Amino acid sequence: MGWDAGPAPHPVGPHADLAGRWSAALREGARDHIVPMSAAEAHALLTELAGELGAAAGRSPIPADRVAAAGARLAQAHFVGSEVLGRSIAVLAEYFGSGHADLLAAFATGYLRAFRGWLLHEQESVRTAEITARRTAEEQLRASEARLRAVFSQAGIGTGLSNMSGRIIEVNMAFARMLGYRPEEMCAMSVTDLTHPDDAPGMWELYSALLRGEIDNVQVEKAYAHRDGHAVWTNLNVSLIRDSSGKPHYTLVLVEDISERRALRERLDYRANHDQLTGLPNRSCFFDALRGAFADPSAGVGLCYVDLDHFKSVNDTFGHAAGDELLVQTAARLTACAALPGQLVARMGGDEFVILVPRPRVAGEVSALARTVLDALARPFDVQGRHLTVTASIGVVEDRGEHATADDLLKSADTTMYWAKAAGRDRYSVFDPDRGRREHTRAELSAAMPASFTRGEFFLDYQPIVALPDRSLVAVEALVRWRHPELGVLPPGRFVDLAEDNGHIDALGALVLQLACHDSRRWYDRFPEHTPTVSVNVSAAEVSDPTWLERVQRIIAETGIPPDRLQLELTERTFMETTGRPLEALRTLAEGGVRIAIDDFGTGYSNLAYLGQLPLHVVKLAGPFVQRIRTPETVNRTDLLVLETIIGLTHALGLTVTAECVETGYQAERLHALGCDSAQGWHFHRPMPAQRITDLLAEPAVENIR
Ligand code: C2E
Ligand code: MG
Ligand code: MG
Repeated sequence: MGWDAGPAPHPVGPHADLAGRWSAALREGARDHIVPMSAAEAHALLTELAGELGAAAGRSPIPADRVAAAGARLAQAHFVGSEVLGRSIAVLAEYFGSGHADLLAAFATGYLRAFRGWLLHEQESVRTAEITARRTAEEQLRASEARLRAVFSQAGIGTGLSNMSGRIIEVNMAFARMLGYRPEEMCAMSVTDLTHPDDAPGMWELYSALLRGEIDNVQVEKAYAHRDGHAVWTNLNVSLIRDSSGKPHYTLVLVEDISERRALRERLDYRANHDQLTGLPNRSCFFDALRGAFADPSAGVGLCYVDLDHFKSVNDTFGHAAGDELLVQTAARLTACAALPGQLVARMGGDEFVILVPRPRVAGEVSALARTVLDALARPFDVQGRHLTVTASIGVVEDRGEHATADDLLKSADTTMYWAKAAGRDRYSVFDPDRGRREHTRAELSAAMPASFTRGEFFLDYQPIVALPDRSLVAVEALVRWRHPELGVLPPGRFVDLAEDNGHIDALGALVLQLACHDSRRWYDRFPEHTPTVSVNVSAAEVSDPTWLERVQRIIAETGIPPDRLQLELTERTFMETTGRPLEALRTLAEGGVRIAIDDFGTGYSNLAYLGQLPLHVVKLAGPFVQRIRTPETVNRTDLLVLETIIGLTHALGLTVTAECVETGYQAERLHALGCDSAQGWHFHRPMPAQRITDLLAEPAVENIR
């Protein structure tokens, strides 16, 4: 008990002594409650009560009501500690003496009555506060539940609750609608009724782990069967809800419909993995499949690398739309050929296709497939109302062999396809590891080409061309070679057409001309009387370059060779492809004194009359013609007649004839007898370095003969 401490004020009034003692007694009591007043206020009250009681004590009978009211005022002033009444009675009994039991009784009665009133009031207000608090809490709970329910039922995302035995307790409208049901229909189902054939492997094990409380959350992509049967793809999030003791109670699912997003993704995936034109798997898709097949070292893998022959001319002649149509039809035929399970046809780009043959079952199976493909392509194609025939070259790799990676395997198939091309097209070649080791792919050569210019890896050999009557050296043919750092010396057949394809032919041609004119100049300086003509091969791509003419003229001027010591060889095919300005360039050079020769004459289909219209000096008879008269046994009258006619006609046009590939003395004699002017071939000389030509020129015999 007590009020704020502090010195008791000095007692005043008629019963000041009583008030002082009373204050002291109450101040010392146990502090079991707080009186909401200051020491001075408390003392003033007690002084007033002491006065009241003192006045009452002097009257007889005592005014019990007023005494009781004084007791009540003490209680009402919140002097309600457990010792207040006892201490007050003790002080009053001592002050008024034992003759005032009636006063004490009336005071105690008044105090207790008021105390009980206070107590009841206190209890009542506690109860009221309790009730109000509970009500508020209930209202808040209800509001929060209502909010939650609104969120649950109106959420755009599907939501559901199920118990630990998998029974669905509640689903919202969004979830039910997503699957074509009403919420109450779904509540009659259990979670396992919602399995789908496309469920990810392991998904249901995860759900079991969740039910066992081992994990708290699972997130998967899951398909549900819609009531009408179609699949609804969703992003599913399942969470475990535990009670306050941590025991699993419910599972809560959040389901988001991602069917459209997934369809879009699938479309994009499809596009990323398929060729737009033919619909076939594309290069990247094929690589994935090949690497997959290659990954198991015990499983065989075969490949057919298919490239259409002369596809470019289809585009050039009939237009790109026809070319595209042809590719589409080719793709369909290839697909029909590769019908066995696991076989995959892909378009690698352009006119290149590849067929994957996983786990070939018998030796030769892939070659047999290549044969089937060639046969399938042999039937004419109907493209935009035209019958087109097309052939293909196929590289076959029967099995993985020593290939370390899927990429190597594919590279070998590609290389082998070029073997088929080189062997004459319209055929398949089978990969031969020994040959493969010797040869690099065209791609590798192509990539190495630019650096080989700067490293000076290209050089010339010269093959003498001799006059048939006396075998004197009248000309030399410059033949380019590539001293490759790893592969050794490569013949032009390995890289000239490659340079035409990859755009390096101009640089190569310029280099060859430069080297040849430079050597020619040295021979001219040393042997001005009998400088041999230098014959340089030129490809169609070079001649059609608008800067070519100027380049040739500049090189002639810079090296200072007499223009008539230079001869340019263009194959019969090159001439057929050369019209318009390129032909004018040749004419200009011819007028300037440069000699022009038609190389490999007889391999194309140009007619002899056409020769007269060209700026020509020399016809070089192609090897195959010459080979027919190799020995007396091989020669027949028709061959001789043909040769005689060609030579006669050529002469009639004022041109000279050089025979190529003369390998026997018999050929040399016959050609001489037929009137052929000059010849080259192993019978006379093999191609040789420039220095050996210098040595030949220096031989006095040669000088004498000339
Ligand atoms: P080509 O102009 O018809 O050259 C003759 C080819 O026949 C040369 O092959 C030569 O070595 C070979 N040969 C010579 N005598 C005989 C023989 O008696 N029998 C046989 N079987 N062959 C013989 P090479 O050097 O491999 O050249 C092949 C082709 O490469 C040339 O054919 C030519 O078309 C082209 N070529 C060579 N050098 C160049 C060049 O600098 N530029 C261009 N654009 N093409 C070139
Ligand atoms: Mg030639
Ligand atoms: Mg030739």
